[in-house]
This record gives sequence, structure tokens and C-alpha cells, in this order.
Amino acid sequence: MGVDKNGLIRDVRLPFGLSDDEAVAEALRREGLSRSSKAFVLRRSLDARRKEISEVFTIALSDIYSDFSYDFTEEYGKKKKVLITGFGPAGLFAAYLLAGYGFCPTVAERGKPVDERVKDVELFWKTGILDHESNVQFGEGGAGTFSDGKLTTRINDKRCRFVLNTFVGFGANKSILSAAKPHIGTDALRSVIKEMRNKIVSLGGEILYNTKLTDIDIENGRLSSVYLNGERKQYDALILATGNGADDTYKMLMKKSVAIENKPFSVGFRAEFLQSDINIAAYGKNADKYDLPPADFQFFTHLKEGTVYTFCMCPGGYVVNSSSDEERLVTNGMSYSGRNGSNANAAFLATVSASDPSEALFMRRKIERAAYSLHGGKAPATLVKNFTEGTVPTSFGHVLPTFLPGVELTAFDSIFPKNTLSMLRQGMKEFGKRFFYDPQGVLTAPETRTSAPMRIVRDDSFCAVGAYGLYPCGEGAGYAGGIMSSAVDGLRVAEKIIGIKSD
Ligand SMILES: Cc1cc2nc3c(=O)[nH]c(=O)nc-3n(C[C@H](O)[C@H](O)[C@H](O)COP(=O)(O)OP(=O)(O)OC[C@H]3O[C@@H](n4cnc5c(N)ncnc54)[C@H](O)[C@@H]3O)c2cc1C
Repeated sequence: MGVDKNGLIRDVRLPFGLSDDEAVAEALRREGLSRSSKAFVLRRSLDARRKEISEVFTIALSDIYSDFSYDFTEEYGKKKKVLITGFGPAGLFAAYLLAGYGFCPTVAERGKPVDERVKDVELFWKTGILDHESNVQFGEGGAGTFSDGKLTTRINDKRCRFVLNTFVGFGANKSILSAAKPHIGTDALRSVIKEMRNKIVSLGGEILYNTKLTDIDIENGRLSSVYLNGERKQYDALILATGNGADDTYKMLMKKSVAIENKPFSVGFRAEFLQSDINIAAYGKNADKYDLPPADFQFFTHLKEGTVYTFCMCPGGYVVNSSSDEERLVTNGMSYSGRNGSNANAAFLATVSASDPSEALFMRRKIERAAYSLHGGKAPATLVKNFTEGTVPTSFGHVLPTFLPGVELTAFDSIFPKNTLSMLRQGMKEFGKRFFYDPQGVLTAPETRTSAPMRIVRDDSFCAVGAYGLYPCGEGAGYAGGIMSSAVDGLRVAEKIIGIKSD
């Protein structure tokens, strides 16, 4: 062990369940450091693989260790007039940074403020009546507002810490700072988003709701005008943080002289199991012995046709209707901060690729329409056993679906292309062998929006190739996947506009 040059004591393995203070005291004792050293738990992760469950800590000595942050007192040259379209994590964090440096950005969001949006979404889940501008994908907070609020990411970027600190500063539970798999929960996330928006406004930012970017003009390789709800406006810079759900915005961009490249994406369904069964599969005998958090799982298998994997696991969560287009069906998952629902769910996905971006949009639309057409808004569902055997179930077993407004038992054959279906079948069999087999697990289709189906190519200045002044940003532009990486990309783009030199 020992203290490294960043002031960290790593890999401190301790019995499960110690408080942060107890863990710090024990780590300092083992290092022979005095208890008066200013130290705190930077990270704690559960190790449930052994007979006795333990936690592995990273302890930071605060006189050496410091989190990355921005110095908002620094002045940076000319304050450009910036428009941000889309108020998901990418747009939110770009706006927050720009506002902090006195840029007074304008945010145009096609959907409604979060409280109004929640009402629209609840109505949709109850009745199936969709507001195509205010739903699980569109509106203040973006796609992740009705989510598990998982903040895990594969990117290793110093800005992740800034994102976590900012969320905590605006009301998220402090535990996200040290949890190895931090999550906020949809309930807490909504209030954090409101607090951040209020701060942006208090710093001179402006938020325009029900305001859609409908067009752009590019002249001589520069962005010359933008159109908001059809009205022409001029800005020095446009941050395009419109997510991966807006087909109309993608189509508008594809008509412009902006470089857009193909990108593989994934399609599949949500798999739902009893949380108690997942706990036993993950924790074994320890499941009842300790007061453990609801377990999660992650699975992938490489097949000759591509990869099948699980994604966005929501322990104690709900499968949610995430459609944003009429007569199309999209599933996703969410959970509340307590993660105390009786089911666990995860996306179960196969990688696919199209010959070009418009074919990619066509492919996902075809799947979403096919799913909708089966039962007019009620989601098609099947059971693990029937899916793998290619039969149709007649009733549910011990796992009851959580999707609203409801599901109908059916086969998935008419929803997915044959090769995708075959990959998902092989993957599900492998999952059953390697991790967990419950023949009565419920599968609800289709999950199509976990990643962007294209990338808007940007240059070193982060502008779109062919459109100086246009900054593609976040998940929809193909530079992020998930809340954390989208927020980080929002920060990186804002840094470029402000003039902050950072890696
Ligand atoms: C139900 C659900 C659960 C999820 N759970 C998690 C999770 O637990 N953890 C995780 O990391 N990720 C999760 N995700 C994915 C995550 O939400 C996204 O990766 C993330 O929100 C992408 O951020 P973004 O800012 O790039 O885009 P988005 O969040 O998609 O935001 C884009 C915004 O742009 C707006 N917009 C679109 N077009 C226009 C236009 N033309 N003009 C103006 N505004 C426009 C939209 O209304 C939207 O608000 C979940 C997604 C869903 C749908």
C-alpha cells in the first residue's frame, strides 16, 4: 500500500459495513499515520466474490489530493454569443460552465420544464397518450431524467469528479462521491436538474422551453444562422446537444454540408428478473447474511456476427415506455433512489450496423414500428424460455412485467431482423449458462436508443467538419454514451468555446 504521489492510499480491503470514518481510521492506522491527518474516502467498492464479503477503499489525504475543478474567477477574452440546443446532461453541463464564466448562454429545449414533463410522462404511462415534444426522451434534463441516474462510465476523465461534485452541490446524495457504482435515482435527479437550471438562470443564462432547433444555414464552411421554431437567429456558436432520440434533427443535419459518419449501434430488449434472485446469483450465501445493496450484473459475449451484452442495469427498477414518436415503441429502464422495486432489469442488446446514417435511422424506426403495430402501444413481451426455444408463452410466471401501460405476450420474430434475433437468442442462452437462468424472466421489446446510430465528425476545435461555429456534443453527436460521459463532453465543448486550455 503506502501513500502515492497523488495523496492516495489504494486497495485498502476492510470488512463490509464500516462507516467512512471507521474506514479512514483503520487505513491511517495501517499506514502508521496519525488520526489527525485530513483524510476521506474517495472510493469504496464491494467485493462479493469471496466467502466473506469485504469492501475495498481508496483513501485520499486532503493536504495532497485535490479534485479537478474550474477557477471561475479567471477571465477569458471575448464572450461569444452561444446557443445550446438540448438540455440533457451535455447541454446542462455546457450551459453551467459557460454561465459560470459569464457567457450568459441561451438554451433552447424542445420539451417542457421538468415538473410539467413529469406530468406528461405519467399521463403517457397511464393512458398511452404521447406528447411527442414532452416525453421520456425530450424535455428538461434530457433522456436520463427518467432513469436509474447511474453515473458509471468507462471514460477515465478528470472532469467526472467535477460532475459528481456539481451534482452533490445541487442536492444529490454525498454517497455518489465515493460509490464505485454511483447512482442518483430518477426522483433525486429531477430536483438536482431544477437546482442547476436555477443557478444557470441566476448567472444570466436564458432557458427557452418548447423551442426546437428546426434548421441551420452553413455558408462558406461556417454556421451563419440557426432557426428556432422556424425563426431565424444568429449566434457565434451553436452547441448541438440534441441527444440520439430526435430523428427530425438528425434528418435536418443530414441534408447539410456537415460530415456525418456511420457508427455501429445496438438493438434488443429489456430483460426483467426478480431482484431477490439476482441477489442470490451475485452474492450467493452472503445474500441474506449482510445488508447488501440490490445486486447488479454485467454480461457480454462475442459471437461471430457481433457482440451481445447487457447495459444500463437498473436494480430494483422498472421497465419504462420511452417512446418519443407516434406509433413507435421504445423501452428503457429506470429506478428510484431507494432501488426498492421487486424486479431488476437490464437492456439485452446486439450490435448492428447500417450501410449509412439514413439506413441506421430507418432500421431503428422499422423495429420500433413493428413492435408498436403488434399491440398498438402495449409492448410485446415474452419469457426467457420461450424466447430461446422460439415458442410463444401463454402466461407469466413469478416475474411480473413493470412496463406501463402494459404488455402482451407474443413472439419477437416480426420485430427484429433474423440475424439480430439469432444473436440475441444465442446471447440469452449464454447468459443463462454463465450467470443466471430463469425461464420465467420477462423480456420486453424493443430497446433501440442506447447509443447514437451516427457520429457528426468534429475537428480539433470541436467544430463540425464543414461547419465552423457548430459544436456537435454529447451522445447524439456520437461522443458519449450515458449521463456521465455526456456531461463531460458538454464541459469539454464549453471549454473550447470559453478558451480554457485543458487536455
Ligand atoms: C429511460 C432512460 C434511462 C436511462 N438511464 C441511464 C442511466 O441510468 N445512466 C446513464 O448513464 N444513462 C442512462 N440513459 C442514457 C442517458 O440518458 C443518455 O446517455 C444521456 O441523457 C445523453 O445525454 P445528452 O445530453 O447527450 O442527450 P439527451 O439527454 O438525449 O438530451 C437531448 C435533449 O435535446 C432535446 N432536443 C432534441 N432535439 C432538439 C432540437 N431540435 N431542438 C432543441 N432541443 C432538442 C431533447 O428534448 C433532449 O432534452 C438512460 C436513457 C433513458 C431514455
